[in-house]
Amino acid sequence: MTNIQKNLIAVEQEIQRACDKSGRNRTEVSLIAVSKTKPISMIQEAYNAGIRDFGENRVQELMDKIPQLPSDIRWHMIGHLQRNKVKYIVDKAAMIHSVDSLALAEEISREAVKKNVTVDILIEVNVAEESSKFGVAVSELPGLVESISKLPSIHIKGFMTVAPYTENPEENRPYFHKLVELAVDINRKNIDNRGMCLFSMGMTGDYSVAIEEGATYIRVGTGIFGERGNITD
Ligand SMILES: *Cc1c(COP(=O)(O)O)cnc(C)c1O
Repeated sequence: MTNIQKNLIAVEQEIQRACDKSGRNRTEVSLIAVSKTKPISMIQEAYNAGIRDFGENRVQELMDKIPQLPSDIRWHMIGHLQRNKVKYIVDKAAMIHSVDSLALAEEISREAVKKNVTVDILIEVNVAEESSKFGVAVSELPGLVESISKLPSIHIKGFMTVAPYTENPEENRPYFHKLVELAVDINRKNIDNRGMCLFSMGMTGDYSVAIEEGATYIRVGTGIFGERGNITD
């Protein structure tokens, strides 16, 4: 068995354990294999092992990889997205996880209308309020949801967060809990209830805790493909 195959079995066992512990059904959680910086051959290997959801954080890399891999892959844009790059991915990404401003959402909406597609997005929330992180502040979230909800051809499906790096995943539990709570609050107030119910949270170091707190997408890179070379990756 290859390392990727072994890793995927271990990750799958851990997902199942977290689901069992929290009384959730395994089908509620989608595993996104974060393949940024990794070569086509490794992605193909994970694909062959059954993975269909992959996450990338750079538009150019995503564009390079898409034509080289099977067309039934669902590509998730998980990294900071610049407005001038929206046009390249708006009809290619299954989900954009990293929308954190009205200006970006407007650009996505504009391009979606132009290309006659609807785009599913998550709003990235900086729940831990780290100054180094992208994402909208908790206090700005309700207003942003309301504004984006009015735009055509863009649908807010839920929220995403990148929790702080920590050795102890329990430290991130309150942030995951909070992200779900924010959606419950906003859904309750929404008159034209759009039902935000997808939560992209949890990475290699803390996905078990994220699942226990309600994650529907976990984004696992290192735990599947191994360490990335560059510390800025
Ligand atoms: C790189 C990345 C991940 C995966 O991180 P790992 O710790 O390698 O699992 C998840 N989410 C985002 C937004 C990332 O940029």
